[in-house]
Amino acid sequence: MDCDIIVVGAGPAGLSIARSLADTRLHIALIEKQALTTIENPEFDGRDIALTHLSVRLLKEFGVWDRFEESQRPAIREAKVLNGDSPYCLDFDVRDDSIDALGYLVSNHDIRRELYTEVSRFGNIEFITDVSVDSVNTNAGGASVTLSDGQTLKSRLIIAADSRFSDTRRMVGIQAEMFDFGRVCIVARMKHERPHNETAFECFHYQRTLAVLPLSSHESSIVVTAPMSDRGELMGMSDEMFASDLQRRFENRYGEMSLSTDRFAYPLVGVHARKFCTERFVCVGDSAVGMHPVTAHGYNLGLSGADILATELRSGIRSGTDIGDIRLLKRYERKHMRNTRPIFHGTNEIVKFFTDDRLPARIARKAALRLANRIPPIKQVIRNKLTMSSNRSGLLPPIFRRALHADRSPAKPPTSPK
Ligand SMILES: Cc1cc2nc3c(=O)[nH]c(=O)nc-3n(C[C@H](O)[C@H](O)[C@H](O)COP(=O)(O)OP(=O)(O)OC[C@H]3O[C@@H](n4cnc5c(N)ncnc54)[C@H](O)[C@@H]3O)c2cc1C
Repeated sequence: MDCDIIVVGAGPAGLSIARSLADTRLHIALIEKQALTTIENPEFDGRDIALTHLSVRLLKEFGVWDRFEESQRPAIREAKVLNGDSPYCLDFDVRDDSIDALGYLVSNHDIRRELYTEVSRFGNIEFITDVSVDSVNTNAGGASVTLSDGQTLKSRLIIAADSRFSDTRRMVGIQAEMFDFGRVCIVARMKHERPHNETAFECFHYQRTLAVLPLSSHESSIVVTAPMSDRGELMGMSDEMFASDLQRRFENRYGEMSLSTDRFAYPLVGVHARKFCTERFVCVGDSAVGMHPVTAHGYNLGLSGADILATELRSGIRSGTDIGDIRLLKRYERKHMRNTRPIFHGTNEIVKFFTDDRLPARIARKAALRLANRIPPIKQVIRNKLTMSSNRSGLLPPIFRRALHADRSPAKPPTSPK
């Protein structure tokens, strides 16, 4: 074998699984179609990623979290969900709770850069860049990929982390459910006159959904979700027009607003692979589950999946099992499916429910927000989903969590480079 594991894609998920396995003796080849200079120093791409408590813990274990300056990882202390023009909101905050933040925001390019810096310190991880994977071959004896430069690379296991439109997932014949929302997400950072008070807003204004993610006290990450047909208008208007349009849509809540970065557009397509593994092949990150961003779970699920897979591979190494053994990969698949399926389908239903303009849906939304606010167990479930402090219990209210914690396996010790 040329290496033990081939990871296809050095995005956040590929780098995370590589870092999770960095302190094993496994020789890992990370294949990335972008140039090395781009992954060493990725450019701002408009995405500010809301991270759950579990993700923060994993990034701390990776040695990545402490690389961020405090200003690069602002906290979300409160979150409010509004429906249409109604001032009534479903709100979550950190009062009366043991946690000091609902979550933290870190820019996607900062995550990528610091993960790369950390992973590149390990001698057993090799980056092969500027090439893509042309074909994948797996059988009982081993796996191999042919690269666009003609090289063939052999390994015991291939990990696909090559985005929600994963070519390698297709090459091995894994089907995926895809949901094209027909909508686009426009993201940018904006400065504003009034402070955001560390509060995230999600305003479902029928046709357009507006989200505000609080960065520094007078700057926020703004996410506008609109029908795909509005993309040209939203990307084409001048910075000043875009800013004054948003100021008006926010009813001047933030005072004068202005763009502090470019705008970036992301078409919204949700993807859930029907299975996550086949012989000597396994999907992680968006290649396994590509989420609609409204519930901010995409990378969080990518990280928790990488943690589950790494735990299974480590236990395989300890017991002398082949790391490409399908039984081992299936254990990851079962656990990650259990975590992701309800969130994926639940998120898609939320999107449908909150973008339905018909009168009955508007009335139902009002009722749903009130119910969620007034019935503590419902609110607690949503809140756990937002903050997700463990791989096993994120969706469950405390009473079930306590029961589950009784069988928790010991926490993984922090890893360090060889
Ligand atoms: C607007 C927006 C907001 C978001 N907000 C949040 C949030 O708040 N919280 C959250 O958790 N998530 C969020 N996400 C989701 C998050 O950005 C993704 O889940 C995450 O980036 C997926 O990482 P990945 O590594 O799986 O895929 P990608 O980031 O797509 O990376 C894939 C990598 O593989 C490489 N590649 C592709 N094909 C090949 C090939 N054939 N050969 C070699 N290399 C290849 C690509 O060049 C790329 O580097 C958001 C997404 C969007 C669009």
